[in-house]
Amino acid sequence: MGSPRIGPNRELKRAIESYWAGRTDKAQLESVAAELRKQTWAELAAAGLDSVPVNTFSYYDHMLDTAVLVGALPARYSAVSDEVDRYFAAARGTAELAPLEMTKWFDTNYHYIVPEIGPGTQFALNPTKVIAELEEAQALGISARPVIVGPLTFLALSKAVDGGAVPISRLDELVAVYAVLLSTLANHGAEWVQFDEPVLATDILDNAADLARHTYSVLGDLSYRPAIFVATYFGELTDALTSLAGTPVEAIGVDLVAGSAATVAAVPALTNKTVVAGIVDGRNVWRTDLESALGTLEKLRESAAHVAVSTSCSTLHVPYTLAAESDIDAALRSWLAFGSEKVIEVATLARALREGREAVAAAIDEATAAIASRKSDPRLRNGDVRARLASILAGGRTRGPAAARRESQNARLNLPALPTTTIGSYPQTVEIRKARAALVAGELDQNEYTNRMKAEVESVIRLQERLGIDVLVHGEPERNDMVQYFAEQLDGFFATVNGWVQSYGTRCVRPPILYGDVARPKPMTVDWATYAQSLTDKPVKGMLTGPVTILAWSFVRDDQPLSETAAQVALAIRDETVDLEAAGIAIIQVDEPALRELLPLRREDKDAYLDWAVSSFRLSTSGVADSTQIHTHLCYSEFGEIIGAIADLDADVTSVEAARSHMEIVEDLTAAGFANSIGPGVYDIHSPRVPDTGEIADGLRAALSAVGPERLWVNPDCGLKTRKTDEVEAALHNMVEAAKQVRAGA
Ligand code: GLN
Ligand code: ZN
Repeated sequence: MGSPRIGPNRELKRAIESYWAGRTDKAQLESVAAELRKQTWAELAAAGLDSVPVNTFSYYDHMLDTAVLVGALPARYSAVSDEVDRYFAAARGTAELAPLEMTKWFDTNYHYIVPEIGPGTQFALNPTKVIAELEEAQALGISARPVIVGPLTFLALSKAVDGGAVPISRLDELVAVYAVLLSTLANHGAEWVQFDEPVLATDILDNAADLARHTYSVLGDLSYRPAIFVATYFGELTDALTSLAGTPVEAIGVDLVAGSAATVAAVPALTNKTVVAGIVDGRNVWRTDLESALGTLEKLRESAAHVAVSTSCSTLHVPYTLAAESDIDAALRSWLAFGSEKVIEVATLARALREGREAVAAAIDEATAAIASRKSDPRLRNGDVRARLASILAGGRTRGPAAARRESQNARLNLPALPTTTIGSYPQTVEIRKARAALVAGELDQNEYTNRMKAEVESVIRLQERLGIDVLVHGEPERNDMVQYFAEQLDGFFATVNGWVQSYGTRCVRPPILYGDVARPKPMTVDWATYAQSLTDKPVKGMLTGPVTILAWSFVRDDQPLSETAAQVALAIRDETVDLEAAGIAIIQVDEPALRELLPLRREDKDAYLDWAVSSFRLSTSGVADSTQIHTHLCYSEFGEIIGAIADLDADVTSVEAARSHMEIVEDLTAAGFANSIGPGVYDIHSPRVPDTGEIADGLRAALSAVGPERLWVNPDCGLKTRKTDEVEAALHNMVEAAKQVRAGA
């Protein structure tokens, strides 16, 4: 369905970043890119794929590529004359031009560039990239299948600008461009084309089934075109599958990991289609149970003209290969399959369908044995954790009434009105990163590393004292990443050495693998928090990552419901809060920036998710006394469907992003019954711009008119780790000044 593009050792990341920095030229960048494409195709073909996806390569993102393909790049970027630079300008901005927005691709941690569609957008085909890749692959003798985001998904994920109509209203115009694309691809010898339409597996479009019928009838009716494969993933198709089956397209892809084969088999019109069965999980790291997958595929064969085998979605979402993992025990290794291994699984299953089970009996038996060893591994079940969870009843998820908590916290903390604070991290300076790299490389011992981090904590505490901030943080210098840091200290997690996955553009993350029952062998953050607290009389806020975010940014076990795994993580975080409290920490923040990201794509699944998400947060934060203040931080301010859940978290203080006006945020939350304190970010930390005191004070006054002074906090909108120290100092200085002015009634 598509493969990772960043390079097995992040070669593309390095090539692009050095091009941006002006160290290399365009020809050098293009040659790294071409070499990576060649390697990828060769590997896919050698693994035994009959049809190899092309055009899944990208310098930044496939939605941005599609915007270029259909002529939908906003006119402002035409100021940049070079094509590659224009593309990067849209992706990440220039000194003069703001970039396009970026947001999460469905419920994954991959971010796509959001195309802008306005009255000025005039679709026109620009097929240079896709044709070039097609020809490049053909020249290598590869049976290449171009992959392109389909028109429905493209428009559904775009945003209207300049007073334009909702993008999907432009469907017919866009379909006309796709029609030209089809004949162009046919001219270049493409036998198949894949249109990705994951939006059909969601509730994003109201009339998805009708739109799918319409679009693919028009495209399917064209006589001069490649065969069309409509790929869907991340969920189950409902009516849209029946609609698609009624159009002339030749193949339909279904996600059999997120959806069920029985539902697919129930659609009668599939008897004259190829069903591309996404049976190998493309977005998680577990080895496929080949025996059971084969059973499903054989059954499905009874209801489709042809069954083809594929991953459930692009393997963009998993690391390249297990072969790069030197530091992994044999049992765990045998349970896993990364990108390359998944492609082999696909080929193996197809061969079994074609030639019979016997042809691949050894591979099937090996998989069966690995699955059995995983089931019986003692690390998967920790009796203590399970017993403790079973004994914590509903009472383990509630604290005293919010008003009583506020009273005892006020008495203990004695903070001014409109208290100032920050979200947790301070700049991750070059020295911090160098020290961490040296520690990992064995060039720095643990003691020396700790000393350097302590010096950093001290300087961050002194900075905050100088600035006059009310609630201090230790700055998180010791954390490589807010999830990985905890995963490395908890039982049940494994950290890969090279399991990089593209998050956006050249940014990659290395999600830990949560494979077994989670337990906390010992305190994880207490030493850092108490050290920071020992340096100052002001309260220092303890800093933890919440259970939902830990799950969202890890590869999670698939052998039990997420809700159970979340509860185990929550219990570990709860123990940490209790230890922090016992060590004298009066304020603890449990970050949940990913709460919204995991929200299911289908309406009917949302309530159940929000129930367990809220319940796990409450489990993690309700072990402390009323006098201990719990904060949380969310990385957005468009609460939409989760607003009720945010109120249910029942944190004493919630800080959120600054994207909208303070007033709107506060009003929305109040309308949803939220009666606790709120810190709407007073400035955007994602930009180097330093806000001035006046504008911060204006925002605060507006918020103050919607919520009393006893419930309003003053903070930036996110952690400061990506910023430079001088920017941070200037911005926080103005923030503190603004709070003083507003407190004084000025
Ligand atoms: N405490 C974290 C930090 O300050 C929160 C990061 C986040 O919001 N994603 O960096
Ligand atoms: Zn944030």
